[in-house]
Amino acid sequence: MFPQTISIGRVFGIPIGFHTSWLLIFGLLSWLLASEFQGISYPNGEIAFSPPAALLLAVVTALALFASIVLHELGHSVVALHYGIAVRSITLHVFGGVAVTERDAPTATAEFWIAIAGPLVSFALAGICWLLAHWIATPATIVMFSWLARINLVLGIFNLLPGFPLDGGRVFRAIVWGITGSASKGLSWAIGGGKLVALGLAGWGVLQIVSSNNVLAGVWPILIASFLYSTAKGTELFARLSASDAAHQVGLIMRDVDPWLSGDTTIAQWLEREGGRTLLVGNGDTVNGFLARGAERKVAENQRASQPVTAVATPLGSLPAVTPASGGQAVLDLMQQFNLDSYPVIDRGRVVGWLERDAVDALVRGGLTA
Ligand SMILES: [Zn+2]
Repeated sequence: MFPQTISIGRVFGIPIGFHTSWLLIFGLLSWLLASEFQGISYPNGEIAFSPPAALLLAVVTALALFASIVLHELGHSVVALHYGIAVRSITLHVFGGVAVTERDAPTATAEFWIAIAGPLVSFALAGICWLLAHWIATPATIVMFSWLARINLVLGIFNLLPGFPLDGGRVFRAIVWGITGSASKGLSWAIGGGKLVALGLAGWGVLQIVSSNNVLAGVWPILIASFLYSTAKGTELFARLSASDAAHQVGLIMRDVDPWLSGDTTIAQWLEREGGRTLLVGNGDTVNGFLARGAERKVAENQRASQPVTAVATPLGSLPAVTPASGGQAVLDLMQQFNLDSYPVIDRGRVVGWLERDAVDALVRGGLTA
């Protein structure tokens, strides 16, 4: 298989790599820069760069941007290491870069400094590139360093927008956390900010398309906006599922797991012997997924005697993980969203229980009698 992330080395012991999706951006950016550089001419009208020279300069500039983003992520990482948080990896992808840390910041102060370090590096790089553009006065270095100064300035400012998952959202989270003393309150404010930033960015993209007919200039902000919005939403769901007061934790009402169906059982056998009820599906000791009531409808009636249940089962990994400590309301919303009447409870990678929608509903309404 073609690897999704290509490793390029280590800095401070942190593996650095890029996701294959970054190659697309690298190619597109080199091409856009090359055509921009080809259009540059001296005051006397003479063209500054031949097409091959413009292309070479564009590739070098795109690589320097790659290095700038790695330095931005290293900024976050060095401060995280300072607070004793291990950094697992730095990866560049289509929407920028990400430094994956072993755990969350322990205090609001640590969160603040880890988050702001990246944009501070970008601003420092913008300043250095601006100076280099003035000190090394050749056409190629002026063009390259001026562009890098501008893009690093834009990256620093954009990342400071106060919405999760942007750095500014984490700064915002740290400030709310510091003032209220509640990390989760900080996160929910930052998530709200993230949704607003995403909507604003999408609106701006639409405006670009309508007003300038420049589709590329508009589609890009919309793509980034949808990435930001879905990340903010995913984090919100994760946060809601992981934190709940003791009285509303679904672990109180989950029931034992039935023995699971073997994956080679046919759909018809499941309907006939088990009445089509919700069941886990697995092979040997491993659970792979589960059959939801009505799942047989994914396959035509005349196929059900020959198709195995795995053809219509929902893979376990495709759903947000509910743990015994998850809150009832979050789980109920989840069941509604995926239209499921029952839901597996997972603890340390193992299915430990089942939830029925009626029971979760009762838990949420305070009707727990058990
Ligand atoms: Zn950052």
